[in-house]
Amino acid sequence: MSQFFMPTKVFFGENSLKNFGEAIVSLGTKALIVTGKNSAERSGALSDVKELCNSLEIKYVHFDEVSENPELHTVQKGAELMKEKSCDFIIGIGGGSPLDAAKAISAISANKLKPKDIYKPEKIIKAYPIVAIPTTSGTGSEVTQYSVITDEINQKKAGFGSPLLFPKISFLDPKYTYTLPERPTRDTAIDALSHLLEGIYSKNRSSLLNPLIYEGISLIIKYLPIALKEPNNFRAREKLMLASYYGGMVIAQGGTTLQHSIGYPLTTHYGLSHGQANGIVMKEIIELYEPALQNELTELFDSIGMTKFEFYMWLDQWDFVEDITFPEEFIQKSTEEIAKSRNMAANPRSIQNNEIADILRKISK
Ligand code: NAP
Ligand code: FE
Repeated sequence: MSQFFMPTKVFFGENSLKNFGEAIVSLGTKALIVTGKNSAERSGALSDVKELCNSLEIKYVHFDEVSENPELHTVQKGAELMKEKSCDFIIGIGGGSPLDAAKAISAISANKLKPKDIYKPEKIIKAYPIVAIPTTSGTGSEVTQYSVITDEINQKKAGFGSPLLFPKISFLDPKYTYTLPERPTRDTAIDALSHLLEGIYSKNRSSLLNPLIYEGISLIIKYLPIALKEPNNFRAREKLMLASYYGGMVIAQGGTTLQHSIGYPLTTHYGLSHGQANGIVMKEIIELYEPALQNELTELFDSIGMTKFEFYMWLDQWDFVEDITFPEEFIQKSTEEIAKSRNMAANPRSIQNNEIADILRKISK
């Protein structure tokens, strides 16, 4: 049995917005453009969007207050602006943070929710249409129903999802990632790699996705080093964006696992980027799952033409491990939080709290 659901219309390629942007006219007449402080502009995507809206006579209001790992108070502010300015659709431009914020703003404003209620999917029964324009190649948020928002009061990062929050249209143009510096290029590619691997780990895995998973992983292995050396290499940026798109479609089907939830407290409490938090535990997670996934992992490594150890050597070159000591109190508290996270439902086998704590102890210096 396998299912595939991905209702987003995707335009992929150079100048996709210029060539196909007209498609947004069906979504509304006044857009809330949701971005971070700088990257939407620096990447060139914001001016392309403004030009498009002007040419289509679509009005817009710009909300540029989304920071990394967006928080509840920010999406609430965006939702208030949406209401005050009577916007009827949302255009998110940026990395996963602005795209996820766009989804949260849509859910809060369409359903008149208190911000914290976004974590209760049953409360999301309507949504304003979303257009997504990624400027990183990592989260796949442009083709998922998920959003990850930090509850700043409880210092807890958590995801939520609703099929209503798939973007209606996404424009993927690799040239918007030219300006992405070295470190976020690496970390976002590792996030995409995590999503692809989680397509194999997830207990909802479907062999239908294997071609996307194997190809996406191979693309990252080959093209990440090239994109880091030559940031303006279109082909390398294109292949990383494609891999991220594949990763998004993969997690949209089977969800993420412990590989993702274990990284959230590392981001919230130690400031590790999302991709780095995934990378730092990647080998430990493979070791943890391997006994339950012997056939799947053998097929994976055969398909990408690498042994597990060659793959580990490829990972080791990125030096994810930092000199951080995680105190036992942090390990205990985070373990409980991780064990309760939504992502744990998709693990390939049931994971005990002591197994989670052991991984955190292993990466502690
Ligand atoms: P991000 O947090 O959106 O952005 C990271 C940094 O990169 C920001 O400083 C941003 O600047 C900058 N940046 C983005 N694009 C740039 C460009 N083209 N040129 C120069 N700088 C650029 O990073 P992300 O890794 O894409 O997103 C991470 C978030 O997504 C996390 O909260 C993670 O949990 C979430 N996530 C969501 C999903 C999902 O399915 N929805 C999946 C995985 C992860 P500005 O602040 O100026 O924009
Ligand atoms: Fe992720």
